[in-house]
Amino acid sequence: MKRACVIGWPVAHSRSPFIHRYWLKLYGLDGAYELEAVRPEEIGGFLKGLGQRGYAGANVTLPHKEAALAASDRPDEAATAIGAANTLWLDANGLLHASNTDAYGFMTHLSAEAPDWNADGRPVMVLGAGGAARAILHGLLEAGATKIQLANRTEDRAEALAKAFGSRVVVVPWEDRNTALGACGLLVNATSLGMTGKPPLDLDLSALPVDATVADIVYSPLQTPLLAAAKARGNRTVDGLGMLLHQAVPGFERWFGVRPEVTPELRAHVAAHLGAS
Ligand code: NAP
Repeated sequence: MKRACVIGWPVAHSRSPFIHRYWLKLYGLDGAYELEAVRPEEIGGFLKGLGQRGYAGANVTLPHKEAALAASDRPDEAATAIGAANTLWLDANGLLHASNTDAYGFMTHLSAEAPDWNADGRPVMVLGAGGAARAILHGLLEAGATKIQLANRTEDRAEALAKAFGSRVVVVPWEDRNTALGACGLLVNATSLGMTGKPPLDLDLSALPVDATVADIVYSPLQTPLLAAAKARGNRTVDGLGMLLHQAVPGFERWFGVRPEVTPELRAHVAAHLGAS
């Protein structure tokens, strides 16, 4: 039996088991996907012994994504550029490979829901400068975004990202985020604001063109206050669940040897669990 897991601290909140166990059952595979709560001081040792514990690989969530990259023998281009890994797998020689599939997940869902998001080269507005924002900047730039306006409450963090990603990323002061929406074709919320238990995102959409797309990577609730406000004024919206589902695809394929599909049935299955929690 092949086994994989998600490693975090805490880890009980992870939605990954719902996705991978659904696929294991759907494709009739002899495999298991488990939860591993690993303390920060123990992550190095845990990853060294991943194969001995019987795992073919793992997903990695907070706060271990940087440690996972550091522990990897073979990080790919995305993990290196993003500076963090969320997907690990062991090869036949026992080498630990690492990837970051958040950019892939976000871009795959965005391209499906809003294929023309960059057709006219208008600026993209990204809110947030945490780990997820880093992945999104990487994905957008790789996909050809010409200008990204980046706003974050803590401006230093936005400046650091702009420095890392180059001149196509321009920092906008957090106080100016409303007016800066003026010429944008895509707005992405990559902060944790709007998530269940967090304050809502304080954003006035009045200046945003009505033909712009609004994406929120927060997926709990599925319909965030930002997406509801955008929908109400006629903007096309892209929710965070698609990113969550698509980011899981490459890991499952590595561990279990089948490239799984993201289907409306999977979406409904995970959405039902989100609704229940
Ligand atoms: P993170 O590294 O902790 O970053 C959090 C971000 O939110 C920072 O930019 C932070 O700004 C900002 N923020 C937090 N509280 C704020 C407040 N009160 N006012 C203004 N800004 C605030 O988290 P992350 O890993 O990037 O994740 C961000 C969100 O994305 C989470 O909700 C997570 O669940 C979601 N996510 C979704 C997916 C998916 O597959 N859909 C994948 C990854 C993450 P400061 O820098 O000023 O603190």
